[in-house]
Formats: sequence, structure tokens, C-alpha cells
Amino acid sequence: MDIAFFGVGNMGGPMAANLVKAGHRVRVFDLVPALVEEAVENGAEAAPDPGRAVSGAEMVISMLPSAQAVEELYLGEAGILSAIDPASLIVDCSTIDAATARKLSALAGESGRTMIDAPVSGGVGGSRAGTLTFICGGPEAAVERARPLLEVMGRNVFRAGDSGAGQVAKICNNMLLAILMAGTAEALQLGVDNGLDPAVLSQVMAESSGSNWALKVYNPWPGVMENAPASNDYRGGFGVKLMNKDLGLALQSALASRSSTPMGALARSLYALHANAGNEALDFSSIQRLYASRSA
Ligand code: NAD
Repeated sequence: MDIAFFGVGNMGGPMAANLVKAGHRVRVFDLVPALVEEAVENGAEAAPDPGRAVSGAEMVISMLPSAQAVEELYLGEAGILSAIDPASLIVDCSTIDAATARKLSALAGESGRTMIDAPVSGGVGGSRAGTLTFICGGPEAAVERARPLLEVMGRNVFRAGDSGAGQVAKICNNMLLAILMAGTAEALQLGVDNGLDPAVLSQVMAESSGSNWALKVYNPWPGVMENAPASNDYRGGFGVKLMNKDLGLALQSALASRSSTPMGALARSLYALHANAGNEALDFSSIQRLYASRSA
């Protein structure tokens, strides 16, 4: 298939490389020339400008940092929406607010084009390994059309509902993840402050009713889990900056729907405090350090 791919950063780069490996023709465009060069080394073609990237493309994929970047790409001064062949499918994999995703897909629809939202879960490791989870929002037929390509880059493809639903499901999941991580860090600190071994406490809680993903596969206490970012000075993994962005999107969504999300709001404040203390670049499990009174 002929694919135009926008945004070959931490996530998009390996995704584009996996499409090339599966035999697809991939034309990439990014604002950072070094990233385009890297993609070319991995077998993609460099598009000199966004317009030429979409020319002849059967599928257009974007993996950008923010809603502003996505709007700019499709609708800005040199916006590509009108240059995209109406027969091709547009798949935005960026994590953005659901309202913008809905607006873009409605505008695409008005011009006879189809656009779905397909944010991902699984991080940079999942992107490299081709094991991402895609959480799609849009018409069923469009999601089914995207599925074979998404399955090249990921292991699970879900349809959460209509346009924007992928974004809503994604931020619900990440809000819950932040709450679980902060709660796990809090419980571990309490145990250690009261003389417990964090590894033993983790083992106990992992097999008890407090068990959760943060505790079982991503333990925030250094040294408890060899392969977790906590055991590597909180390097790699999913950054505090990105978690903060997702918690902001969750809060924005809660305000719009007048939902009460007290735990999510608290998690957002905790992560904002942590980020503002200079920890933005660390993995999100480093929230453990915020609780450190005497150890960790
Ligand atoms: P990144 O900053 O590494 O990559 C984004 C790329 O988009 C950059 O290279 C940037 O130059 C490029 N870009 C920006 N505007 C552009 C434009 N108009 N045209 C072409 N390229 C443009 O970010 P990332 O970590 O790859 O994340 C991408 C998206 O995936 C974000 O929305 C993020 O929230 C989401 N996400 C990230 C992770 C993760 O672990 N990194 C996990 C899940 C979801």
C-alpha cells in the first residue's frame, strides 16, 4: 500500500519502519530533518513537503505531539486535507482532545473524506516491537479498512465507538493508570516507612486485593523489578510530560461533560507538582520520589 506518514518521532519513527518492513511504500514528512533521515535509513522515502507526501497515498497516518500540530497539518495555511485523495483513509494516531478529533473528522467528512482517530497505548517499546494497542473512533467500515495496517504496527485494534471515542477511551485509561501509579507509590512508601521491604510488600499486594498493573509489571520502587524504569533511574518508558498532557486532556474532557473526577484531578495536580520540580523528562513511575520522606 502507498502510505503517507506524518511525524516520525519516538512513536511514529518505529511505526513507519514496521510498515516498511511489512512491504509497504511509506513517504514520511517531519519538521525535524534528522528524523526524516533516520526514517529513510529504515527504508522510507522522504517527502519534500506535506502536499507531495499525500500525493498518490491510499492511507494517510499522523503521529503528532498535540491537537494544535494536528490541526495545523490538516487545516493550517498549507493544510493537507484538501490535497488528500477522497478515496484514501486518514488515520490520526496522535493523542489529542476528543472535540478536535470530532471536528477534524466532521470537516473531512464534509469534503467527502474519511478520518478516524486511533490513539495508541503501549509506549515506545510497543511501537518498536509492533505490539501497540490502537483505540479507534470512527465508522466501523473505516476502522475495518484500517485494521490490516494497524495490525502491522500493533497487536490489538479496538473500536471504542464513533469519531472521538478512541481519544475518550485512551484518556480514561491513562487517567486510571496515573491514579493507580500514584496510589501504588503511596502504599509502597507507607510500607517502607513502617519497616517493610518494598519487594516483599509488592509481592504481597500483587497477590492481594490491591493488585494492579503498576504493581505487577511496572513497579515504581527502584530495584524491585529489574526491567522497570524505576530500576534504571526512571529513564525510558512513558514520560511525566506525556502523562501530564493526558491528565490535562482528561480534566478538559471532564469539564466539558460535567463529570466528577476527583481522583483524576488529584493525580493531575500530583503530576504537575512533580513535573514542575524538574522531573518532566523522567518516566511517570518516578512519582514515587514525590512521596519519599526518608527513603527511595
Ligand atoms: P515526538 O515529539 O517524539 O514526535 C512527534 C513528531 O511530530 C516530532 O518529530 C515533530 O517534529 C513532528 N511534527 C510536529 N508537527 C508536525 C507537522 N506539522 N508535520 C510533520 N511532523 C510534525 O512525540 P511521540 O512520543 O512520538 O508522541 C507522538 C504522539 O503519540 C503524541 O500525541 C503522544 O501523546 C502519543 N503517545 C506517545 C507515547 C510515548 O510513550 N511516547 C505513548 C502513547 C501515545
